[in-house]
Parts: sequence; structure tokens; C-alpha cells
Amino acid sequence: MFAQRLAQVSASATLKVAAEAERLRRAGFSVVDFSAGEPDFPTPEHVKAAGKAAIDANFTRYTAAPGIPELREGICARYKAQYGVDITPAEVLMTVGGKQALFNTALALFDPGDEVITHAPYWPTIPEQVKLVGAVPVIVPTKSEDGFALHAKDILAAITSKTKAIILNSPANPTGALVDEATVGAIADAAATRGIWLIVDLCYEQLIYEPVPHNLPKVLFERHRDRTVIAGSASKSYAMTGWRCGWTIAPKELTAAFNVIQGQSTSNICSITQKAAVAAVTGSQDAVTAMLDEYRKRRDNIHAWLTAHSGIRCVKPKGAFYLFPDISGLLGGALKTSTDFAQALLEKEHVVVTPGEAFDAPGYLRISYATSMEQLREGADRILRFAESLQPAKAGAAR
Ligand code: PMP
Repeated sequence: MFAQRLAQVSASATLKVAAEAERLRRAGFSVVDFSAGEPDFPTPEHVKAAGKAAIDANFTRYTAAPGIPELREGICARYKAQYGVDITPAEVLMTVGGKQALFNTALALFDPGDEVITHAPYWPTIPEQVKLVGAVPVIVPTKSEDGFALHAKDILAAITSKTKAIILNSPANPTGALVDEATVGAIADAAATRGIWLIVDLCYEQLIYEPVPHNLPKVLFERHRDRTVIAGSASKSYAMTGWRCGWTIAPKELTAAFNVIQGQSTSNICSITQKAAVAAVTGSQDAVTAMLDEYRKRRDNIHAWLTAHSGIRCVKPKGAFYLFPDISGLLGGALKTSTDFAQALLEKEHVVVTPGEAFDAPGYLRISYATSMEQLREGADRILRFAESLQPAKAGAAR
């Protein structure tokens, strides 16, 4: 009955978890929710004010499909300030979140049968979008023993004559790992000699905890500018998930193609959002730093609390706001998979986590620490209690 392309695509696994959590909440249980893929902070005041001012000024009509010039220029200025790169507004197109940035890219570049390489554990939208347009995701695994580091040689080994593009995500959801500059440089060089597109999802670019070099735009522009697409987003950096604001930075010919796609599908992103986003990208970045400082404290605490248990091993994330612990040491008996574990944790302790299967990483859990310290403490206590109940002999190991 439905189009063939849907046969390949899965619905979001996190939605199932969210529905179950909602059911428990409605039944009156105190649920601790670690499933959120979005900041718990409000949008910064000056950004909200710009949105309100846009409504009052009746800035409520269609705009140019790729976005208002002021905002496209604002994105150029932000990347100049942050990375020292020169971008022109003709290379920028505003999208309905990073999701549409990636989807426009998939529609514009991938033909049925093309192979698109990405790395796992991954944010599921990346391979699902590849499948939606009939292309084939090729997955390069990374390992927790290695801090989920991506190695250029593994990406290079996955390249075939059908490879159309490579999609990198750094900082990565769900691992918080960074793809380092040298790796991106080596991948860019290999892609350049073979005419392969490099798409880099920088949605969490402002959420990096230590001052490590991560100037991926510069590396990409120096090595492979004519076939690089950067997908950006205001969602996580500026706590603006509901406003729906993202962008692509791509060669101007490709940006023109995105404009055709967007002009015949969604058209411009919300006019009010655009004015708010101008304030976000061109205004003070203090709120970004304040949120990052708070996420860092939460990360350090939840990481310390959970890894006190001998059955939980966890790399300390370098960016984003997710902990991705390996709980395979707690599996066995009735709980054979991380999905079983997450389901039992929800039923017994009313803690919502996303099982690793959703990210092609069985044996892991994704715990979002975009929630208050109180909730993190409470949730950690419940997880530890649950873990102890599975391993009575090791009860002394906890905390
Ligand atoms: N990329 C990654 C890795 C993400 O985790 C997300 C949101 N979960 C996005 C892109 C897109 O978010 P948005 O559409 O809200 O910008």
C-alpha cells in the first residue's frame, strides 16, 4: 500500500521507550527520564526576546527559501569567529534543524545503490535517511576499549567503487567521542582523490568539554572544500530544539540544489525562528559556556556514580551530553540484552534509558545527562540498586 522506500526504514526506537515512560508517568509513578536528546535548559533570554520582537514586528510571512540574508551572514560570521574560516552566504542554507540539513544532502547527492559510509555507534537518523533515498549505509564500527575513536584506515578500508559519501559525526551521539583533526584530514585526502563527498554533522560542535583542537571546518576547507558539507544546528548549542533551526554549509552549486529541493518541499524555515537564530549566532555566547559548564559537572558526577559499580564500564564522553556505558557485565539470566535490561529497569525502578541496540551497539545504554543534578543522583541510585539486585554477590562493590 505504501511506497517501497518505506520497507527499508525503521521508526525511531526512542519513541517506543518514550511512550512506555509516558504510560508510567500517567499511572502516577515518579519516573526518572534519561532518554532526552535535548537540552533541559530554556532558550537564552536574548534569543527568546528576538523571537518575541519578530512576532510584534509582524515578521511572520514567507522569507527567501534558503533563509534571510542577515541570518546566512550571521552563520558565516559565527564560523569565522569560531574557526577562522571564510564562508559566503551563498554557501549557507537554513534548514528545519540539523535533520533537514542532512536530509537535503541525502536527497541532493545519493542515488539508489550508492554506498554511504558512516561510523557506529551512530545516531540512527543518519543511516535511516541514507536508506530512505535508496542508498546503502556501510557501517564502520568503533570500540569502547579505544574510547570509540574513529581510525581513518577503517573508513578507507570500507571505500568501494560505489562509495558516494562519508558521513562523520563529531562530537558523536551517542558516545560523545570526537573525530580528531588528523583523522578528518586523512579521510578528506582519501575522499578528495576519489571524488567522494564528506558530510560532517557538527550538531554538538559547541559541546566539547576540554580545550582540544577540533577545527574540522578548517581542516575540511583546506583539504576538500569542493566536496564538503557541514550540517549544523542551533538545537543543542542554544537550547533551541523546538524552534527547528539548522543549516548546511556547502559549495554554492550544491547549496543551489538544496534550494531547489527545499523550495519544492518545506520552503523557508519559520520566520520567527530566523530572527531568534540571528540573536543566537551573532549575540553573546555566554549562555553556551554556562550550559557547557553545567553539563561538565553533571557528566563528571554521573560518570563517577555509575562507574563505581564493577559491572558498569564507561568511557568518559568528550562532548555532547550522553553517557554510553557498557553494561554487558550485568547481562545474563533473564536479562539477555541491553533492551531487556532497559525494559526491566523501567518496570522495576522507573528509570528511562535508551538501549544500545538503537545505536547499533548492543550491550550498552545511552543515558542523557541533559537533566537536573537531582534527577541524575536519584536515577544513578536507582540504577545502582537495580544493578546490585542482579549481582547480589557484588553488592559491596557499588558506590
Ligand atoms: N545530529 C545528531 C548527531 C543529533 O543527535 C541530532 C538530534 N538528536 C541532530 C543531528 C539533529 O537535531 P535537530 O534536527 O534538532 O537540529
